[in-house]
Amino acid sequence: MTIEALVRAREEAVASRDIFAKVYGLTLVDRARDIGVYPFFQPLDNNDGPEAQINGRRVLMFGSNNYLGLTRHPHVVEAARAAITRYGTSMTGSRLLNGTTHLHEELEARIARFLRKERALVFTTGYQTNLGIISSLVDKRSAAVVDKADHASIYDGATLAEGEIARFRHNDANHLDKVLTRLGGKPALVIVDGVYSMGGDIAPLPEIVEVCRRHEARLLVDDAHGLGVLGEGGRGTASHFGLEDECDLVMGTFSKSLASIGGFVAGPAKVIDWIQHYARSMLFSASLPPASVASALAALEVLEQAPEMVDRLRRLGDMWRNGLRSLGFDTGQSQTPIVPVFVGDEYTTVMFWKALIEEGVYTNTAIYPAVNMKEAILRTSCMATHTEEHIERALEIFKTVGRRYGLIP
Ligand code: PMP
Repeated sequence: MTIEALVRAREEAVASRDIFAKVYGLTLVDRARDIGVYPFFQPLDNNDGPEAQINGRRVLMFGSNNYLGLTRHPHVVEAARAAITRYGTSMTGSRLLNGTTHLHEELEARIARFLRKERALVFTTGYQTNLGIISSLVDKRSAAVVDKADHASIYDGATLAEGEIARFRHNDANHLDKVLTRLGGKPALVIVDGVYSMGGDIAPLPEIVEVCRRHEARLLVDDAHGLGVLGEGGRGTASHFGLEDECDLVMGTFSKSLASIGGFVAGPAKVIDWIQHYARSMLFSASLPPASVASALAALEVLEQAPEMVDRLRRLGDMWRNGLRSLGFDTGQSQTPIVPVFVGDEYTTVMFWKALIEEGVYTNTAIYPAVNMKEAILRTSCMATHTEEHIERALEIFKTVGRRYGLIP
């Protein structure tokens, strides 16, 4: 059965009155499991950072967001341990009530200082951060203006907000200009990813900032994949372009370069204070556990003390991307350590992914509906703790498997 037929069968099931009807039809997931190529929710046996083990097999890890490789750094691990000893395993409540410790406040102060913003506010996840920022700021009389390739959490935040949602073509500042003109002076929050999580391309902030200024729109940059990766000492995409003051709000997550989990928003003190009191995704959810706060804080300290990690990551990212390109893979517009490999057909993509794991390289697949039908990709990324030898070995495996699947000459 083709993917189109499966999608049609699902649409027919959806027409039933029983809300469960759709779940009993043959799904893409069932089909992928049947033929042994289901690529998601695969448990790892262990994860050292640049290498991991899955199904008893040692693999090179080219499918994580652990860009600086700090999840095993002794200072980070020790900080998490010490926080559990002092505060226990959970805050068992919201930031608003019993869920704030001095560690939470210290992390906020450190993030604000690092990003040269007046204040920062920590959330339990990056996902909740976007939900909270956008829904608290975009009210009935305003609009969330989003890049078509923005992260799902931005879309969900805009959906939750009471205002209008307007979209502009990916990385197209001229189209943003037209969309803002069409809004006719409505207060607008423009939201872009600094680095796009699937394509590894960078938002053209100079053009976007100029358009926002002209329309008096405010700009929120989601720097989940820019923090620790771009800019001076890893300060992110705004710093990369020298536009820190021009980006009104920056959000990010601790679940990538900062080796933990959680999210933050940084910006003017009054705006952060507003978000702090109106962001329901923070007010009505338990706060970030102490071990996670402490590990993010410790990872930030490591980054501040060893900013050369960011240069190393950039060098290895270039080596990885250029290596894949010179083998003949289509890596799109990537300019960062996130390097997509465009495959197209869903079936070939999962077969390619599976063969890579069997040969010893872990990557991720992005297939419909995460991307358009027939535009499936493998998402790869490298980290500062990879060695040149890891990259060479992974390229060799990509060459062998890529040829087998007819992806390269
Ligand atoms: N924004 C972007 C661009 C992301 O890629 C992600 C996570 N993949 C998030 C936000 C959400 O962050 P978290 O995983 O911390 O919820």
